[in-house]
Amino acid sequence: MSVELQITPLSEWGYGWKTPVFFAGPCSAESEDQVMQTARGLAKHRVDMLRAGIWKPRTRPNNFEGIGSIGLKWLKDAGFDTNLPVCVEVANVKHVYEALRSGVDVLWIGARTTVNPFAVQEICDALHGVDIPVMVKNPVNPDLELWIGAFERLNRVGITRLAAIHRGFSTYEKTKFRNRPKWEIPIELKRRYPDLPVICDPSHICGTRELLQEVSQTAMDIGLDGLMIESHINPDKALSDAKQQVVPEAYSHIIESLIFRHEETPPESASTELESRRSNIDRIDKYIIELLAERMDIVREIGMYKKENNLTILQRGRWNEILESRHEFGRRKNLSDKFVRDVFQAIHKESIHHQAQVMNESADDALNDLKKEAKIRKR
Ligand code: PEP
Ligand code: MN
Repeated sequence: MSVELQITPLSEWGYGWKTPVFFAGPCSAESEDQVMQTARGLAKHRVDMLRAGIWKPRTRPNNFEGIGSIGLKWLKDAGFDTNLPVCVEVANVKHVYEALRSGVDVLWIGARTTVNPFAVQEICDALHGVDIPVMVKNPVNPDLELWIGAFERLNRVGITRLAAIHRGFSTYEKTKFRNRPKWEIPIELKRRYPDLPVICDPSHICGTRELLQEVSQTAMDIGLDGLMIESHINPDKALSDAKQQVVPEAYSHIIESLIFRHEETPPESASTELESRRSNIDRIDKYIIELLAERMDIVREIGMYKKENNLTILQRGRWNEILESRHEFGRRKNLSDKFVRDVFQAIHKESIHHQAQVMNESADDALNDLKKEAKIRKR
């Protein structure tokens, strides 16, 4: 059952924002000087709001668990100095009261809190009657309903200045991401609640600086409404999330090199059924490309493995198994065998190219094998 959400657009939050919006600041407030220097560095560039973690949910004890309430004052002072609003994570009632008392402008609920409806409800009860914007990070597990439930709870206590933060989802398997983006989930959230702003947090998706640019661009390609990026004046010395933080200049470089896509829909037809379906198709196509690129990354890893173990690129048994199982999936979804075969032959051909590159072989040899194989199958 889908409940309508009352949502105030970002442009009406009272900060003069235009989308996409950019939020930045350290993972954690560590010292007065670190917060102020980072804020001043960021304020030279395009930034709409400062962030800092004051209470840090850490996976294991004995890690830095946040500087505590004193950091709220440092952050507010930095906001005052740079003329920027500030936001912090709240995970319980005490955090809410302290954040409100210190005059923080925007709150966010962290991924580890969104998973727990008791905790979310407790925060909502503490916010009853308080008119403050609240952003909700996705739960660490890929559960869209749980994410939406948090917005419904906030709506019920009267909060309409709401935004979602997409920070990726944890998996047991090691991937190149710290938290897999699973773009289909924010896309589905946007499809169901087109007015709900969705901000991407590439820092927690990536876990390393090197991937930030690529993930930030994908978020823009998909049409998300902004980015929240962790920035620290001296990232290597950061007390939390050191690998994923960037200096303000590197943050600026990421933002400045983004390509912004416009949905070029004439205003009069913007709300028509056709246009909204088309923009969904555009999102899905971008996502298909993302997934194909992710598939090729895995293919290259397999290529490395085959090279190390002296295996051939083409392994007939595996390819037959792929075709059969994909035909079977396709049939269940009403896709013809021919269509599924054509698509997977194209994907397979590209995969072979990638593996051949990895194995330093001539791609032609591998492709010839593939052609022979295709002929055998046609007969
Ligand atoms: C953070 O933003 O620093 C944080 C703790 O993020 P998340 O809740 O996404 O893990
Ligand atoms: Mn962090």
